[in-house]
Amino acid sequence: MTINFILIKINNQICDNLRGFFYLYNSILNFIIMKKTIIICIFSIALASCTNSNEKQEVKKIEDTNPQFESYKQRFITNLWNVYPGWASSQGYHKLDSVLTIPDEAERTKEINFSKANLDSLKSMNIEGLTDNNKTDYRIIENQLQSTIWTLTEEKSFEWNPTEYNVSGAFAEMLNGTYDTPSIRLHNFYLKMTNIPAFYETAKKNIKNPTLEHTQLAIDQNLGGLSVFQNDLNESMKKEKIGRIEREKIESRALKAVKAINDFVTWLKELKNDKPRSFRLGKELYTKKFEFDIQSGYSSDVIYEKALAHKKELHEKMFDLADKFWIKYMDKAPKPSDKLLEIKQVINKISENHAKPEDFQSAIEKQLPTLIKFIKDKDLIYIDPTKPLVVRKEPDYMAGVAGASISAPGPYDKNGNTYYNVGSLAGMDKDKAESYLKEYNTYILQILNIHEAIPGHYTQLVYSNQSPSLVKSLFGNNAMIEGWAVYAERMMLESGYGNNEDEMWLMYYKWNLRSTCNTILDYSVHTKDMSKEEAMNLLMNEAFQEKTEAENKWRRVSVTQVQLCCYFTGYTEIYDFREDYKKQLGENFNLRKFHEKFLSYGSAPVKYIKDLMLADMKEVKK
Ligand code: ZN
Repeated sequence: MTINFILIKINNQICDNLRGFFYLYNSILNFIIMKKTIIICIFSIALASCTNSNEKQEVKKIEDTNPQFESYKQRFITNLWNVYPGWASSQGYHKLDSVLTIPDEAERTKEINFSKANLDSLKSMNIEGLTDNNKTDYRIIENQLQSTIWTLTEEKSFEWNPTEYNVSGAFAEMLNGTYDTPSIRLHNFYLKMTNIPAFYETAKKNIKNPTLEHTQLAIDQNLGGLSVFQNDLNESMKKEKIGRIEREKIESRALKAVKAINDFVTWLKELKNDKPRSFRLGKELYTKKFEFDIQSGYSSDVIYEKALAHKKELHEKMFDLADKFWIKYMDKAPKPSDKLLEIKQVINKISENHAKPEDFQSAIEKQLPTLIKFIKDKDLIYIDPTKPLVVRKEPDYMAGVAGASISAPGPYDKNGNTYYNVGSLAGMDKDKAESYLKEYNTYILQILNIHEAIPGHYTQLVYSNQSPSLVKSLFGNNAMIEGWAVYAERMMLESGYGNNEDEMWLMYYKWNLRSTCNTILDYSVHTKDMSKEEAMNLLMNEAFQEKTEAENKWRRVSVTQVQLCCYFTGYTEIYDFREDYKKQLGENFNLRKFHEKFLSYGSAPVKYIKDLMLADMKEVKK
């Protein structure tokens, strides 16, 4: 269970999971409070699906196991928060805000025992008697628990990854939050600070031969977080007009916190680390981590081979287009003999077609109705008109990475808006803005909108909220979520979006190369010893990325593992499944029905959705 959400602002990939999910998690605020409503909702869905009298036997089975599983899930979440109070706060459950757990051996034993006990409880239940929504919840919980045990006993990142020890994010949340009153939040802040010195003392005991990359990042992040206990805290106290006595109490404890963080940073800097662990995870751990984190029907080896083949295919298609375009865009310029170089030059030229800096936001806004109309005309998927997407300038607290992201309300905050946050280019120097606009040129911007908004992430979220599951909101499958958005890009173009213009296709291939090469890079770096030089060659010469983008990606792959694979893996699984499904249904296949059915299962791993849809198809055929 990943409980330390580390925000790493080192990549310029627009849709970064770590970042995206941070906001997604924050939006779940309301639905813990409405836990009772959740249970009622799930029940009514179960009942609604049991109205067909021909399915009496099925009904009986569902009645047999679901109530037991529902009350189990409720207990599971309550107990989960008791074991992980910090995580609970980040999800919008604020009853345990004042608690900071000390990450010692006793704590790890507690987590392992919790996982084992819950795995036993799951085993005692008959999965076959569950509704589809509960079947996938069951598998997701099971995977999380197994993953926790594996992380603590095999991967042991608590020993080699010092970035797991950083308290500032949780405290910053308490200052910036809009829940409770400011004085309650400040009081909890004060109580939670008690354990900060013990937290960092334990961290020092846990860390053994850490990787140099994670050590440096931990130093930077902890130093960056100091301002929370200095400036930000003082600002908040001033604003809330906290009384002198209370204020002195808080200040004195904050000084101890600052000292503990500084001591930890000094300790990391002076650490005698003759045999640092390599940041490369190694084949054995990587294979396992891929299984737990991605939950794919394919192994990491198979996905890697598929990504290599896909890259080759994309290069061939791109070369055909670039060659066709040469005269149109390059006029009499001499054609390079290297095919990849030829593609690069044409892409560079076409990228000059982009919005003006001041029109960036309105360019995005204008595209949304066009996308909706196209989807309606082509009958691709139902889009609920009562859930509008609001485009807004990226709020200040998200600032730092220009780009676009979605902030969605939790499944039970049905009246909340879904925002499409667009980063501003104001303040960027001219060269940087030009390079950014070239990257997000007229063509790529449309693909970005498909990915982030319609029918990508935003549409998927609307559907997933109709299949309410607290479990899926907490442990939603990244590969399915990202895979859907990447699948949507290709599906839209294949349906004729962009008038089948060759320029659009060429740019799409470039965009698609990015997720394909993310997978190749991640797998090669962590299991095949790929050097930085080889990585830069892959990203710059084979995926046509700018140097800064490639450098950032190298930094990202050296402090994360597997995460970069979720885009391509999910996309490949969904696309392959759709083709298989289409073949099986023959002329009865309907694209819209396929999409709506696929999304109706919520953010579950693709392999489970696939099993359920295939089982359902057999039922229909009977
Ligand atoms: Zn995405």
